[in-house]
Amino acid sequence: MTQLPGGLTIEALRAELRGEVLENEPLKDRTTYRIGGPARVLVCPKDSEDLRRLNELIRSRGVPSFILGGGANVLVSDTGFDGIVVHLKHFNRLEFQGATVAAGAGLALDGFVSQCLKRGLAGLERLSGIPGTLGGALRMNAGAFDAEISDHLLEVECMDFDGNRRFLSKSQVGFDYRRAHAIRDTYILGATFHFPKGTVEGLFIAREEILSRRCEKQPWQYPTAGSVFKRPPGHYTGRLVEDLGLKGTRIGRAQISPKHAGIIVNLGGAKASDVLGLIRLVQAEVLRHYGVQLELEQELIGFDGIENV
Ligand SMILES: Cc1cc2nc3c(=O)[nH]c(=O)nc-3n(C[C@H](O)[C@H](O)[C@H](O)COP(=O)(O)OP(=O)(O)OC[C@H]3O[C@@H](n4cnc5c(N)ncnc54)[C@H](O)[C@@H]3O)c2cc1C
Repeated sequence: MTQLPGGLTIEALRAELRGEVLENEPLKDRTTYRIGGPARVLVCPKDSEDLRRLNELIRSRGVPSFILGGGANVLVSDTGFDGIVVHLKHFNRLEFQGATVAAGAGLALDGFVSQCLKRGLAGLERLSGIPGTLGGALRMNAGAFDAEISDHLLEVECMDFDGNRRFLSKSQVGFDYRRAHAIRDTYILGATFHFPKGTVEGLFIAREEILSRRCEKQPWQYPTAGSVFKRPPGHYTGRLVEDLGLKGTRIGRAQISPKHAGIIVNLGGAKASDVLGLIRLVQAEVLRHYGVQLELEQELIGFDGIENV
């Protein structure tokens, strides 16, 4: 009988829940870095009742847990995650009522963007090509080219860690640059948006333009998780790193991208420890030369005793 920390067994999880319960699930297959050891268990709750039951088990037994979306903004350690990874892929509703759209957190963000554009709904075209799920995008207040996922948001549906379902307006959430304050420690289940109207043709022309600009600037050919650090006020991370001559620096099979100095790429077979080594090197050098403390945008998962900064 396989036991999790807290004495909870996989068998008990399977007996209690209707969604998939996967044991020793390799997380490298679920992250865009293509790096990371296994999750002891990965659970995909079927609906909010199932999630409530799962949350109860997690909290009552004190099992470490983590919510994983598309894995496009996380670095998972080489040893993986010794607990329960919660994946909300079944929260995938998509309902249009005129210009108002209700969408589930488990939807792929870029698919959601293109579904809206197809209906002549404007406002998300500049977010084209951002990997991950809608839930992850809301949690990160993902954005690009001066647009953010929260721009046309009406409300977010979430479940807090006491199991209460809540609906929070945009102002109740409180969005900032890559932050969504009141939903930071919740299960984000979905959101409702209201978009201005545009022409389908015009919106797809804008989308294509954005996609080609992204292609020019970013190292698409290698697995990455996008920008490693938040933009420090008054600076561009890429420029700081480039000016220090760190572009192209390697540790093991991880490299500071020669194309974009704010991104680390996996050249194939990189370890999480290689990526973390580059992260700490860049932070130390930027602090030493410019007095600027770079804050991680990406989240470190399963690194015991290592601070997520
Ligand atoms: C090539 C590339 C380009 C990128 N370009 C951009 C860009 O232009 N702009 C930008 O903002 N980002 C960019 N990113 C980063 C990434 O795409 C975003 O941060 C994205 O929103 C992460 O979503 P995700 O579903 O993958 O989240 P994950 O990486 O799975 O998780 C990120 C965080 O969100 C939490 N989370 C995920 N889902 C939920 C949920 N349902 N409920 C509660 N918490 C949840 C996780 O616990 C974690 O804390 C890029 C990444 C890549 C690989």
